[in-house]
Amino acid sequence: MTDKHRFHVIHGTPTLDTSAEQVRKRVRAMPKPAYMVQCHRCGGREVIETKTGVMMKNGKPVGGTKQLLCVGCLLKGERVLLV
Ligand SMILES: [Zn+2]
Repeated sequence: MTDKHRFHVIHGTPTLDTSAEQVRKRVRAMPKPAYMVQCHRCGGREVIETKTGVMMKNGKPVGGTKQLLCVGCLLKGERVLLV
């Protein structure tokens, strides 16, 4: 993983603190419910983790971006990203 910050704070107009906005804030703060990863193309639930952009440093692979691919689609020659 990189240490670079992808996002930075901008000086913009803050959102109005209406009751609807308060509800949105509360919902955003709630933990996301767990769900089973499923392929949106074939419906399969078997995944394979890949890494893109791995660097070799002192004989060891470091970094890279992890991605989940659908195994069922991969076997048919299709690359379907799930996460
Ligand atoms: Zn699939």
